[in-house]
Amino acid sequence: PVRVRFAPSPTGNLHVGGARTALFNYLFARSKGGKFILRVEDTDLERSTRESEEAMLHDLSWLGLNWDEGPGVGGDYGPYRQSERNPLYKEYADKLLQSGHVYRCFCSNEELEKMKEIANLKKLPPVYTGKWASAPEEEVLEELEKGTPYTYRFRVPKEGNLKINDLIRGEVVWSLDTLGDFVIMRSNGQPVYNFCVTVDDATMAITHVIRAEEHLPNTLRQALIYKALGLSMPSFAHVSLILAPDRSKLSKRHGATSVGQFREMGYLPQAMVNYLALLGWGDGTEKEFFSLKELVEKFSIDRVNKSGAIFDSAKLRWMNGQHLRSLPSEELIKVVGERWKSTGILTESEGPFVEEAVQLLKDGIDLITDSEKALSNLLSYPLSTTLMSPESKPVLEDKLSEVATSLLAAYENGEILAALEEGHSGWQKWVKSFGKSLKRKGKSLFMPLRVLLTGKLHGPDMGASILLIHRAGKCGIVAPQAA
Ligand code: GLU
Repeated sequence: PVRVRFAPSPTGNLHVGGARTALFNYLFARSKGGKFILRVEDTDLERSTRESEEAMLHDLSWLGLNWDEGPGVGGDYGPYRQSERNPLYKEYADKLLQSGHVYRCFCSNEELEKMKEIANLKKLPPVYTGKWASAPEEEVLEELEKGTPYTYRFRVPKEGNLKINDLIRGEVVWSLDTLGDFVIMRSNGQPVYNFCVTVDDATMAITHVIRAEEHLPNTLRQALIYKALGLSMPSFAHVSLILAPDRSKLSKRHGATSVGQFREMGYLPQAMVNYLALLGWGDGTEKEFFSLKELVEKFSIDRVNKSGAIFDSAKLRWMNGQHLRSLPSEELIKVVGERWKSTGILTESEGPFVEEAVQLLKDGIDLITDSEKALSNLLSYPLSTTLMSPESKPVLEDKLSEVATSLLAAYENGEILAALEEGHSGWQKWVKSFGKSLKRKGKSLFMPLRVLLTGKLHGPDMGASILLIHRAGKCGIVAPQAA
């Protein structure tokens, strides 16, 4: 059975790169009927925090990427935090010591520094050249007796290659001669990251490791550890980086990069998931709009692209609009209505006014936060602020045109208001007769009308807008500062 894991280090926020890795793992597990495991990699005790862990788990849940085993859920392969698995690491490290794949290294930091300097001068790779790789037993015992601190150092074969078959990148080959023996356990007994990951993946029966490309150098070390332990290796799939539009590595200076930031900006989890899936994957057709369920049906790891994917925030925004508008209409009305109420534009979050306003304005709303501007724009149309206020008369007369004069007259004699009282058909009837009286129709009628009534050349349906503005003025639903 397929078992994959997402293994975040809780040292900050969940970024779009991590979220995409989690998503690919999730999709792979779900599409194969396997398990999606969450493991917290908190070996870096200084930088790891519980707050960061909680925030990351919250972000994953918000995206809908539920895990089958891990913190908060449990499972047969726990504990799921590396900081709670130290005895296991010690056990495996000792196995390697016994089999000779690991040796005790008593080199002091100064000695190690010196080795590095010499290698540097000779322009050689910084491989371990200390004596402890082949020290006689007596010398080791002597140091142990003296209580000299030591690390566990992994014996790397001095020649040959190591090869893996990456599910995304194909064959990846490393030559071993430049690697050098590396530490797997520090002198304070703290196991080193690459060692923990290997022991965890092996003991958690992980079948596929899907992670970011930047972990490829770790894969080499981890593969050596698997071999030394006599364990079978999982399959690897290294996903390419997410790049900024200038093809540099995506970072803070390019704008929002964490899932939490996008949530606060008003993005929907459905849109985030859909967009993240398209960063390096596609179903082979032109289709771009996917629900999580559809992604599970369509996902396959061999369609994941090996070149870097560009993060296009404008596209994400557009996609959010697509998802927002495809919400069931009651749901859309509910979220937008609540937003209008909570931001103080309206005094009520529901009712016919809200419903009509959402229908009218939704095409101009990509983010839920756009809805504030859309509504306040509508409500600041001159019909309420200009035409309806007596002080505005001189202003209007100032730019008198034929249409403006007649419009003002129609407003003053109550014609417009009466038409609006009759709703949509009343308004249409009035517009028609108004046009007739001026011998105007089509564009020559609607353009000046729109400009005079809404202050803009373009916008949502004019009749519906005017009716809503009229309604807003009458029903008291509009909070005073906005009206
Ligand atoms: N903890 C690592 C990270 O956050 C992931 C390691 C892995 O997937 O093997 O980058």
